[in-house]
Amino acid sequence: VKEQGRSGFKFFHLDMEQRSLEQILLENELRKAIQQQQFTIEYQPKKDISTGELIGMEALVRWEHPELGRISPDKFIPIAEETGLIIPLGEWVLRQGCIQNKQWQDQGYPPLKLSVNLSVRQFTQPNLPEKIKEILKEIGLEAKWLELEVTEGIFMDLDHSVSTLQEIRNLGVHVSIDDFGTGYSSISYIKHLPIDTLKIDASFIRDIHINEESEAIVKLIIDIAQTLNLNVIAEGVESQEQLLILRENGCLQGQGFLFSKPLSKNDFEGYLKQATRN
Ligand code: C2E
Ligand code: CA
Ligand code: CA
Ligand code: CA
Repeated sequence: VKEQGRSGFKFFHLDMEQRSLEQILLENELRKAIQQQQFTIEYQPKKDISTGELIGMEALVRWEHPELGRISPDKFIPIAEETGLIIPLGEWVLRQGCIQNKQWQDQGYPPLKLSVNLSVRQFTQPNLPEKIKEILKEIGLEAKWLELEVTEGIFMDLDHSVSTLQEIRNLGVHVSIDDFGTGYSSISYIKHLPIDTLKIDASFIRDIHINEESEAIVKLIIDIAQTLNLNVIAEGVESQEQLLILRENGCLQGQGFLFSKPLSKNDFEGYLKQATRN
């Protein structure tokens, strides 16, 4: 491993150039991708971890490039953010996700809350609350069936984020803080934030069963949530061991491969049929 590390360092400059070339390539492809509709959405179930009940799903964007194949969001979302392309892409995910959710409701499936990720760049665009309101109205989806997942990055501008979140929640849309525990939030101001849910970052769940510090942090987040009357959900739950500890500590909701991977529209429908039978 050390050997690789050293040679990796030697080629550092080459790496940097390649990366920026890749970035330029992806940026160009990303522009085309939006027009050519190369994006789809997968839906990952969220569960009540004591009853096993399905409580909602998260929309996760997927990019299938005709030549490059599937490209991970961890690669293209940052580029979309930098270039501003996240604005049209994010709006597409929001609208498409809401259309799909409404369609499932119209088909008679039990109504569920759909969570959509909102990046900082999207969050800071002017008129976001009005845009969300218009989209919901146009689709005919009740606001309570939509949740937005935002990261702590939005709190860099605290005044703006608080007033925007307030407007969004006044519509009836729920708000969750994604990747909670990794960002800028301080306990002293969390209590002033107009939010509904804390989503514990997967990095704390990953080793919760073997690392006491991670367990202590998770406990603390659950305590904060209970004190402030917020929901709390754990992301990245992969094993029964992890689930057990979460349960012991009073975490009521979970999401992760243990329950289900993100599913295509058709697979999610299969999942819905199975989950809602009886
Ligand atoms: P995220 O919002 O934290 O989403 C959770 C990520 O963890 C997803 O990766 C999901 O597939 C993955 N995951 C779920 N369960 C497990 C598990 O048990 N173990 C592990 N190891 N991973 C799990 P994905 O879909 O590749 O997305 C990565 C990130 O890209 C997301 O992280 C989010 O920040 C961003 N992203 C995805 N879709 C969108 C979108 O529509 N808009 C925006 N702005 N960002 C998005
Ligand atoms: Ca998320
Ligand atoms: Ca997350
Ligand atoms: Ca994450």
